[in-house]
Amino acid sequence: MREPLKKIFLPLRWLRSLRARLFVIIFLVGFIPSSIMRYATVASYEDRGIEVRRTDVQNQLKIIADHLIKYNYLRDNSSEVVNAELNQIANLYDGRILVINGALRVIKDTYQLIEGKTIVSEHVIRGLRGVSHSNYDRVNRYIKIVTPIIETVSASNATPEIPEGTEIFHGVILTSVSSDSINTTREILSRKSAIVETIIFFLLIAIALIGANLLVIPFDRVTRAISQVKEGFDDEPINVTDYTETEHILDAFNQLLKRMKVIDDSRNEFVSNVSHELKTPITSMKVLAESLVNQNDVPEEIYREFLVDIAAEIEREDKIINDLLTLVKMDKSAALLNIGIVDINALTEIVLKRLRPIARKKDIELVLESKREVVAVADEVKISLILTNLIENAIKYNKEHGMVTVTINADHQFFTIDVSDTGDGIAEDYLDHIFERFYRVDKSHSREIAGTGLGLAITKNAVMLHMGTINVTSAIGEGTTFTVKIPLNYITK
Ligand code: ADP
Repeated sequence: MREPLKKIFLPLRWLRSLRARLFVIIFLVGFIPSSIMRYATVASYEDRGIEVRRTDVQNQLKIIADHLIKYNYLRDNSSEVVNAELNQIANLYDGRILVINGALRVIKDTYQLIEGKTIVSEHVIRGLRGVSHSNYDRVNRYIKIVTPIIETVSASNATPEIPEGTEIFHGVILTSVSSDSINTTREILSRKSAIVETIIFFLLIAIALIGANLLVIPFDRVTRAISQVKEGFDDEPINVTDYTETEHILDAFNQLLKRMKVIDDSRNEFVSNVSHELKTPITSMKVLAESLVNQNDVPEEIYREFLVDIAAEIEREDKIINDLLTLVKMDKSAALLNIGIVDINALTEIVLKRLRPIARKKDIELVLESKREVVAVADEVKISLILTNLIENAIKYNKEHGMVTVTINADHQFFTIDVSDTGDGIAEDYLDHIFERFYRVDKSHSREIAGTGLGLAITKNAVMLHMGTINVTSAIGEGTTFTVKIPLNYITK
């Protein structure tokens, strides 16, 4: 984010808290409608008050306009009745009434300031044309009302020139009525509602504070539950069922916990297996060395024999360490793969040639069946490792005079390597475990055959790095077949 923008948003960092957001939302949801209602009530009170006053005054002035005609007031303004009526209305509404005749002369002014004077204004002229109208001066707070003085010709007064029903405009009544009382009431109303609004404001702060805190409690519980899982991975899954959301978070967390537990368990098991496997040759060497040290005058042949045994144990230790290093290196990352074009048939021939001397010791025949020429994009060293481990096992766990058949085939996507032997086979119960690190089917029997129990784990890793699969089928007494299936073109994830 750019620096100026950062500066603007920095003070709003507190809004990243869910509690703060809930507080703001609850507060605004309560406060905005209550403020709008207050404003609307006060404003509509004023409009309504002005409207009612205007109608009241206009109705009364219409009656007075009739009286003005009746008492011929425009010619003679001495009528006590009419004057009393005019003064009464002027006092009642705290206003001023001007009666103006058709010649624009002021006949009566309740303030008695401009009687006898002439008034020329747009309002008066419109009133003389029979238009009754009014307007409200919000700034000076008064309502101006113009009431025309209209005489409707009756049947008795009608002449052929002026028929019955004709309207004659004699003048206007110009009235100014103060709206002070309405405004005073409005101000009182406004003050009272401001007090109510202030109370609502503080109440809403309290409600928003309590509400926001209550709503985030489940999340606090989730945080507490998660931070309790500090060391070790309990079998007990943690649960906060208040919200679907917290349930989802903890479901995902429990799954992660489970997965970490599996990894932790397997790491512990691996470490204990490694220690055990590394200790065994050391213990043997210690026993052999001690027995030599504790005996006097040991014949040279015994020395030689024991030292040969010690050298064999050292070799075994060396093999275990090398296998472990291979495994660890492969675990690190697939980026370690050195991908290139590999002639699978040629590579298999090389591996078979290398292993033939070992096979010859047990008179085992190694056969290569190439169903087709396979050229793949893969890591040559890893493919060679796969072939060596599988063929070596097929020789190791074979009978004397047995046979190992390596079959190479491919379709348009994958190539397959089958390694079959004529050994004793593996019982079904063990088949699932043979790819595990340090697993050896028959420990006592396997002890006679050199091995670390890591070969198939390494093989499986190498296959997986190529996004391939490895399967095994076996029949007791007949033999075992391992099938490796790898994409012809190495695919990155
Ligand atoms: P190692 O051969 O060093 O013991 P591996 O991981 O290569 O370890 O093999 C694990 C176990 O699987 C072996 O100990 C052996 O019991 C069994 N196994 C592997 N290959 C074969 C095979 N071709 N025939 C019979 N058993 C086998």
